[in-house]
Formats: sequence, structure tokens, C-alpha cells
Amino acid sequence: MSFSDLPFDVGPVYEGERIRGNQMYVELGGPKIDKHFELVRVKKEKEIEDGKVTIIGPNIKDMEEGGRYPIGILVEVAGPELEEDLEAVFERRVHEFCNFINGVMHLNQRYTNWMRLSKSLVQKGFNDLTMLGTVLIRLYKAELPIIKKAQVTLITDPKEIEESYDVAMGIYNKRDERARTIHDEDVDMYYGCVLCQSFAPTHACCITPDRTSLCGSINWFDARAAAKVDPKGPLFEVPPGECVNKEAGEFTGVNDMIKKRSLGEIERIYLYSGMEFPHTSCGCFEAIDFYIPEVNGHGIVDRNYGDVAINGLPFSAMANQTGGGKQMPGFNGVSFQYIGSPKYQLYDGLQLGFESGIYTIVWMPTTVKERVAEFIPEDLIDKIATEEDVQDINQLKTWLKEKNHPVVDTWVEMEEEEEEGEWEEEGAMVPMGTVGLTIPGAGGAGGFKVILKNCKIHAESIIIKKIEPKRRKK
Ligand code: SF4
Repeated sequence: MSFSDLPFDVGPVYEGERIRGNQMYVELGGPKIDKHFELVRVKKEKEIEDGKVTIIGPNIKDMEEGGRYPIGILVEVAGPELEEDLEAVFERRVHEFCNFINGVMHLNQRYTNWMRLSKSLVQKGFNDLTMLGTVLIRLYKAELPIIKKAQVTLITDPKEIEESYDVAMGIYNKRDERARTIHDEDVDMYYGCVLCQSFAPTHACCITPDRTSLCGSINWFDARAAAKVDPKGPLFEVPPGECVNKEAGEFTGVNDMIKKRSLGEIERIYLYSGMEFPHTSCGCFEAIDFYIPEVNGHGIVDRNYGDVAINGLPFSAMANQTGGGKQMPGFNGVSFQYIGSPKYQLYDGLQLGFESGIYTIVWMPTTVKERVAEFIPEDLIDKIATEEDVQDINQLKTWLKEKNHPVVDTWVEMEEEEEEGEWEEEGAMVPMGTVGLTIPGAGGAGGFKVILKNCKIHAESIIIKKIEPKRRKK
């Protein structure tokens, strides 16, 4: 495979390239554009004109420098061994292959796809989106030899994209609905994915029926199909092994997998917890589940939410805290599909005396609430606040009390303990070196350990609060 006929370089070395606002020629898709998508479809060979690229809408030369435009990426592929279950996994490769181009930054997936083309790329001669389609076709056929033919359609017209966007949303929904028909205990094989290790070297997804990948694009069926056709590829089988803790979703096979794939950095994962040994997060998560210590509950914020969340942090700041392959108790990258699962942060919910993890949720943006409403129990839905109900933590506290959210029952002990157990040291400093801090029972969900390596922290004061695991009063 050669790209020598194109005026720019292509290769994995360019993955991870960042293009800031002042370096960008145009932005395609992203949070400021209403409708955009990327989709892969498996077709019959006779339906594909191999190598064909179709552009619908303004091309690069028609776009204003600094402008933002929709982007619909439709990749259609054919081959005798291809099956529909492979579409989602092929689709996830759009991210990787676009990032191979020196001067293209691609983020996210499905209907949250977001690209930037750099000024230097356009100066080198990238003046036609056909070149992007050509790169995709060549990479798909080279990297996935079971693909024999491929054609690409790129849509940049806001009107023309509407129909294709609706088709794409229908296909995503169909995939998600199918994934909800089975649960973790119904299968004897889980799957792993390391596609995001170029960005987050210690991250590996464990994909189970109840825990769709945190990017939301690969469910258990998709992962199974991918591991079957390419067992040595980025998606692979993970035999669950012995179940160590059913409520937490801890399995010896999953622990072995993460230990190996994170090169020993991470040793344990609780699949159903955001507070103890949480699943690692890369950066592609659809949403973040974050702990709100002031109310002993959790919030959920998604990447399309443009304002600060109830904890005063925007999604981007929390994403930095959460991603990069770290295991960060209290911040957990999740997919919408997982939020709708009965296993959603089950362990954290049980630690507080709830019947499921969804009862720990106290805040989410209106758009997220609408999206997951069908999965929220009837006795809870009106007790979860949104940005329209409360604007700060004090208002949230009042709201939760007024609505009698079940999390309020866990507060009594908390308040008593805070009065007794709080102390403060002035002018504290933790010197350079490796420091381990064991933090017991934060959030009422047991304990966790924070390891600070080669760091130097200056603080005017450190406040240490004694918080024991607490349960909801019956
Ligand atoms: S988020 Fe997980 S499943 Fe999705 S592409 Fe990255 S590693 Fe794979």
C-alpha cells in the first residue's frame, strides 16, 4: 500500500496528533454541529464500486478557513467472509485511520465524531475530501484483508446529511437494543479491546453483555464477531475465569487480562464499580460517572454538555482527570448503554444499601436524562436533578431533601462524622517521591489507594475527613 501519490504523509506515527484552534483550517462535526455521523455497512460485492469516493456538499476549497461543517462518513465494504456483526468494529477503525493522516485530528465515534484539518495539511495540497476517502479505502483493505472492496461517501451539506443521519441513528439503536437482550451471566466468554492504547497505553476495555465498551460503539456481539475473524487483532477473547466478587463484577480472567495489557500497571478491576478498582478509561467515553462527596451521590455528564456540571467542572476538565488509561476512583468513563444495564455501578449502589447502582445518581443534564429515562426506575426519575432544577451543590442538597432522594438517608451518619472527625494542618507539603495514601470509605463505598509518583505538592492546608462506609437507613 502506498500513499506516495498524495501530498501528505500517512502512518500510525501521526496518531495522537493534536490540532488546536489556531492551527485548524476547518472543523468537521464536533459538539457545535447538530448532525454528523460515521457509519460502516457491509454490502454485497456487486453493490460496491471498489475505490469510489463520493462527496456530497462543500469540498475543502468551498469551505471558509476557521469554519465548522457537518461530516457524514459512510464506508461501505464487501467480502465473502463479512457479516453485519462486524460493522461496529470496522466503524471504530475510522477514528484510527483518519488519525493516520498527518494534519488530521479525529475524536470520538458514531454521532459524536469530531475532526479538525490543520492549516499545514491544506497548505501541502489537501484541497479535496476525496483524498480522505481514498486513504480510508486503502487502509481498510490493507489492515483488514477480509475486506475485498470498499467505497466511501462523505457528506458535508447540512440538508443532505439529515436523511443519512437518521438512518445511522436507527442502526446504532438497533445494535444497542440487540445488546440489551443478554446479560453477563448468560455467556461464558468476555472480550477485550486495545484499540485505544495509542492514546492511553494502560487502557484495555473489557466488553461484556452488560458492559458495552465505554466508547459506546462496540457491544458484546460486535466484539465476539471481531475476535472470531481476527483472533490476533485488537479485539480478543477474555475467559472470565473464577468469579471473585459477584456484586462487584470481579473475575480472575479479567484481572489477568488488565494486568497483562496494562503491563502490570493495573492489577484488579471491578466491572460494576466507579469507586473501587474501577474499569480504566481511555478518553473516548460517551459520558463520565463522577462522585459528588457533598451529597454522597453521583452525577453523569456527557461530552455534548456544553456547560459546567453540578460539581463546577466542565466535561473537558473531568475527562482529563478520568482518561489516559488511569484507574481513577470517583471518575469513571461509561457508555450510555452501560447506564441502562442492571449492572450499572451495582457494587456502589449495594454499598449504600440500594438495590442497584442507578439509585446513586443524583444529577445529570436534561439531554442525558431524556436519553436514559426508560432505564431509570419510576420511583427515582423525578428525584434526579438536572441543570434546569439546580445550579449549585447547595441547591442540589435542598432538592434531594425535598424530593426525598434515597441518598439522603445516608447523610445522617456523614454529618455526625464530619463534626467529630475533621482536622486541619497548615502549610502542608508532600515532598517528591512516591507516596501512597489509603483513603478509607470515600463515598461510603469501601476504600481506595492513591499513589503519587515523583510529585511535589504544595498546599495551604490539607483537610482529612474520617468517613466510614455507610449504608442507607432502612
Ligand atoms: S473505548 Fe474501548 S472498545 Fe472502544 S475503541 Fe477504545 S479500547 Fe476499543
